[in-house]
Amino acid sequence: TIETPLSTFELLESEVRSYCRGWPVVFDQARGSHLWSEDGRRYLDFFAGAGSLNYGHNNPVLKRALLDYLERDGVTHGLDMATTAKRAFLESFHDLVLKPRDLPYKVMFPGPTGTNAVESALKLARKAKGRESVVSFTNAFHGMTLGSLAVTGNAFKRAGAGIPLVHGTPMPFDDYLDGQVPDFLWFERLLADTGSGLNHPAAVIVETVQGEGGINVARPEWLRGLAALCARHDMLLIVDDIQMGCGRTGSFFSFEEAGITPDIVTVSKSISGYGLPMALTLFRPELDLWEPGEHNGTFRGNNPAFVTATAALHAYWADQETELRTRRLGELVEQRLLALCAEHTGTSCRGRGLVWGVEFEDPARASEVCARAFERGLLLETSGPEGEVVKLLPALTVSEAELDEGLDILDRAVRAS
Ligand code: PLP
Repeated sequence: TIETPLSTFELLESEVRSYCRGWPVVFDQARGSHLWSEDGRRYLDFFAGAGSLNYGHNNPVLKRALLDYLERDGVTHGLDMATTAKRAFLESFHDLVLKPRDLPYKVMFPGPTGTNAVESALKLARKAKGRESVVSFTNAFHGMTLGSLAVTGNAFKRAGAGIPLVHGTPMPFDDYLDGQVPDFLWFERLLADTGSGLNHPAAVIVETVQGEGGINVARPEWLRGLAALCARHDMLLIVDDIQMGCGRTGSFFSFEEAGITPDIVTVSKSISGYGLPMALTLFRPELDLWEPGEHNGTFRGNNPAFVTATAALHAYWADQETELRTRRLGELVEQRLLALCAEHTGTSCRGRGLVWGVEFEDPARASEVCARAFERGLLLETSGPEGEVVKLLPALTVSEAELDEGLDILDRAVRAS
C-alpha cells in the first residue's frame, strides 16, 4: 500500500478532523504569512489560523517577548492568580485599547477559547435579566459548546449535539443588499404581543461580520438600529468580536465604525497574537454580578498568552498605523476582487478591512477554487451555510507583494475551476 503523508492521523485521529482534508500535507514550520510542509513546500497563508494569527506566524516581536519571559522562568500557569504578566496585560489593554476609545468595560477571563467567552456572556446576560431566551441571527456562528451552539445558525453543526438546542430565538441577519433602513417593526410587534409565545429575551448576540456564516457584513445603521431596539426592550447587546476583533475589520473592535457600545463583548482568537489560547469577556461594570468563584475554570490564566498579548498591543496598537494600513490594504483587495467578480459570472464579493469573501453560485466551485489554490501554494478556506464563499483572511502584517501574490493565485484558481 502507498503511504499517504497523513496515514498516522487517519489511523488514530477521529474522523471529525477537517482542515487536513482540504490541505492533505503535514505542516512543520511557519513564519509571517507562510507555512511549510514537512517536504519543504511553501504555502502562502490566507487563513491565518481562522483569524487567530492577525500578526502572522511566529511574529518576531511577540516571540522575543515570550522567549524572554520563559528564559526567566515567568509563571506559566496561573489560574486566576494575580501575576505580573496579567497586570501588564490589563494595564496595556486599559491604556491602549479601552481608554482611547472611551469604553467603560471591566474584563473577565472566561477560559481558554472563544466559546468560553460566549458561554460566559450568555450566562451573565441571563443572570442579569433572569430570563433564558437570547436572540441570535441566521447563519451566526458562536462556538461548539451547547450554549454557544444554541445561538449558532448552522443546521449541520447543531445536529452534532444530538439533542434539541433550546432558548435561542432566531432572527434574520441584516440583508445589506435590500437598501432599506431597518426598523425592526415586526420584531417589536412580537415583543409587544404577550400572546405571541415569544419569551422576552435577555439579550441579543451578534457578529458585525459573520465569519463562518459567509462574510455577511452588517450595515452600521442596522447595528445602530439593533442597539436601539435592545435599549428600548431591556435586552443586553452582546457583540461577538472573536473573529472580527483585534483589528481584522480596520479598527480594534469591529463595532467601532457603527459607533455603538455593546453591553458585553467577547474577544479571543487574535488577542494573544501568537496563537496561544486566550479569551476575554468585556462587560459594563454594573454587570459584574458574579460572586467570587461563581464562574470558574482551570485555564483562565494563560500567562505566556498575556505576555504575547501585551507585546502585540504595544507593537500594533500604540498608534493608528495598524488601522490605517489594514483599511488601505483592504481597499486594494476590494479593487482586485471587484475586477475578478466582474470577469467571472456567478460570483460576487464582499468584506471590510482584511476580511473578504468571494461567493460562488455553485458551492462545489468554491471548494474547487480552494483545491486549485492549494495546488498553487495558497491556503484558503470556505465558509457560508453551503460552503459557497471562499474566505480571505490574510495576516494584518501581510506585505503588499504577498497580498498580490495570493490574489494572483486566487485569480488563476478561479480560471481553472
Ligand atoms: N465566535 C465567533 C464569531 C467565531 O468565529 C468563533 C470561531 O470561529 C467562535 C465564536 C468560537 O471560538 P472557538 O473556536 O475559539 O471556541
